[in-house]
Amino acid sequence: MLHVAVEDWPFRRLLSLLTSNYFAPAWPEWLDGRAAADAERLIRHLQVPRGSEELLKELQRCGGRDDEFGAAAGRALQFLTRLRQCFERLPPHAAPSQWAATFDELADEFGMFANAEDDRLPAVDGDRRGWQRLQELLVRADQQRAWLGDDAHALDLAGAIELVEELLAIETLPASADATGCVRILSAEAARTLEIPVLFFAGLSERSFPAPARDSQLYSEAEMAALKSSEVPFVDRQERNCEEMLLFYEVLSRATRQLVLSYPALDEAAHPHSPSSYLLEVERAAGAGAIEVQKEIQLSPVPTDGQPLGPADLRTLAVAEACEGKADLLSAVLHDEGEHAACPTLAESLRANLARQRGDSFGTFEGVFASPQAAEALEARFGAQHPWSPSRLEGYAYCPFQFFSQHVLRLAPLDDLVLETDYLGRGGLLHDVLADVHREINEQCGRPASPVEVGESDFLQCFSTVLDKQLRARAAIGLEAALREIDRRTLLDWANGYYQQHEKYDRKFQDLPAPCKPAHFEVRFGPRRGAENAWEDPLSRDEPLELDLGRERIAIIGRIDRIDTSEIAGQRLFNLLDYKTGRSQSLKSAMVADGTALQLPLYALAARDLLSAEREAHPWLAAYWYVRDGGTKSRFQFGQLAADLIEPTAEWKAIEQQAVERVGKIVAGLRAGEFPMACRDLQCTSQCDFRTVCRVHQTRALEKQWPPPAPPDQDESTAEDDD
Ligand code: SF4
Repeated sequence: MLHVAVEDWPFRRLLSLLTSNYFAPAWPEWLDGRAAADAERLIRHLQVPRGSEELLKELQRCGGRDDEFGAAAGRALQFLTRLRQCFERLPPHAAPSQWAATFDELADEFGMFANAEDDRLPAVDGDRRGWQRLQELLVRADQQRAWLGDDAHALDLAGAIELVEELLAIETLPASADATGCVRILSAEAARTLEIPVLFFAGLSERSFPAPARDSQLYSEAEMAALKSSEVPFVDRQERNCEEMLLFYEVLSRATRQLVLSYPALDEAAHPHSPSSYLLEVERAAGAGAIEVQKEIQLSPVPTDGQPLGPADLRTLAVAEACEGKADLLSAVLHDEGEHAACPTLAESLRANLARQRGDSFGTFEGVFASPQAAEALEARFGAQHPWSPSRLEGYAYCPFQFFSQHVLRLAPLDDLVLETDYLGRGGLLHDVLADVHREINEQCGRPASPVEVGESDFLQCFSTVLDKQLRARAAIGLEAALREIDRRTLLDWANGYYQQHEKYDRKFQDLPAPCKPAHFEVRFGPRRGAENAWEDPLSRDEPLELDLGRERIAIIGRIDRIDTSEIAGQRLFNLLDYKTGRSQSLKSAMVADGTALQLPLYALAARDLLSAEREAHPWLAAYWYVRDGGTKSRFQFGQLAADLIEPTAEWKAIEQQAVERVGKIVAGLRAGEFPMACRDLQCTSQCDFRTVCRVHQTRALEKQWPPPAPPDQDESTAEDDD
């Protein structure tokens, strides 16, 4: 916590402080820990690498939002402001004994031992004794300074931290109990100076010892050599190897009675590991057969000799024996309420496993919640008034359990401080720039026009000017400014490709009497969101698209990137375009039927409604425009010409109906508590954020199907009904 103050709130140290068990201040702003959880979430989201001032400013900005995020930012702001006030009260300089008193007050204020409920526990006892010992040492440091004639010298906080770290490095606590039979686990560096009777030297595999060169190293070996020759104090690979070799030798020679050298034979994917080259050298130096080699290939987590080494081993052994029909140990473990009580969730997890393995249908432990309470809660959350975005609906269709984790439980992976492109931000910037560029071109031409009509150089000039204007409105400093500059260059690069894609797009319609031209941009249907641009397309409206399902109407909201319009023989037609900055993906009508590609059809319905407010409009084409990957590669043809009349294609007729039906089924399934771990993508576990809380491997191994196959007799009656 002191490092947080002296280094002005570095990202990781601040997160460590907020999530530490030693930090539980009794401040009202703490809100029983809720404010710290909010602060952690916001800090990860805001990605401010360092600086209390900047972080608090950002929180203040977010606190202006009128939603749960804004409320969390407000709580985090109050709490972190209190934390900063606390640090501001620290003296600029003080003698070690005064620092001891200050640290003690700080420990009290931060509730350092507030979570230590039972002083008799060895860890708590050790903490308290360690803290007292540190206080004594700091007081004694005053005396030592006086003896050395240095008593006038006061330390600032950084100096005090340095002194504390020095004291902690050399001081040890007297053992509180007999250490006979205890195992000490030390790093190689810590063990290199000790005398050790029995030494078990672990981790001697090829990629662990010596430590491999880091891929992330900024300089090549040649650059390192050049820097070294200019007397820059770098350690090159050769020196590092020598250091590693010396470390290995020193640790090896610490054993006085017995030495065991060990390496894992297999990695977690059961691929063989090779031993460290040092280990092979030791074998070679000792001579063939001089060292006893023991191989233990053990992939099962069940202790083979029946000797559990800890509570986890004990639970595993108990369950393994119970599976073989010997339930005594499991029963004893479950009923033990003493110091070695089993994990309280063991019985629950066994029940969950049993439930999953019974039958061939999905149940509560696989995401299907059939209770009236669940239905009531879901109805309250996703009832008739709930507005749906196509991406949410597609998310449910892709994997209901992923939707449940993300949007019902609101789980989210924890962000870490990363120096990388903000893809979402870059996509948003591109959308805003393209909308402004097209508007300017239309203004220049006095009508909807293709960029090709103004020529490549004017288009690129316009793009660059608009981009600079947008970037000025998104002022950034430091590293963020550098990343924005990278974004600027990337977008300028894409602008060239976009112009050529437009030429190709225009050519597709050259046979039409009047091809569609860009007319409307960033068209909103549904309520406006706080941070959206002030400029609004005249087609935008607050009312959502309403899908009539007969029994109810479902509200769909969204924002259409671009609508191109035209008129043929007095009939109005339009193309609907959605920009994408990723790689192109295939698009098939079957994906509308299964719900994973609802966006284009639903947007086409919304655009038809919006345009038809004045006069009936017909969809002609709906496409994803891949700005960096070939333009309108994925598209649906919705209209066709028949004797100068626009009529819907068979594809549009089918898709329109399928999209509406699928939305109805998704919303009904969701309200019925159906969130099964069922994703058609068999590789989903390789990239899903929720794979660690999902048991899809079990459901797949048991060949459970979703939706469950209908019983044969019901199948027949449905067929008759359809007829
Ligand atoms: S791992 Fe697969 S099945 Fe599980 S939640 Fe993620 S996408 Fe769904």
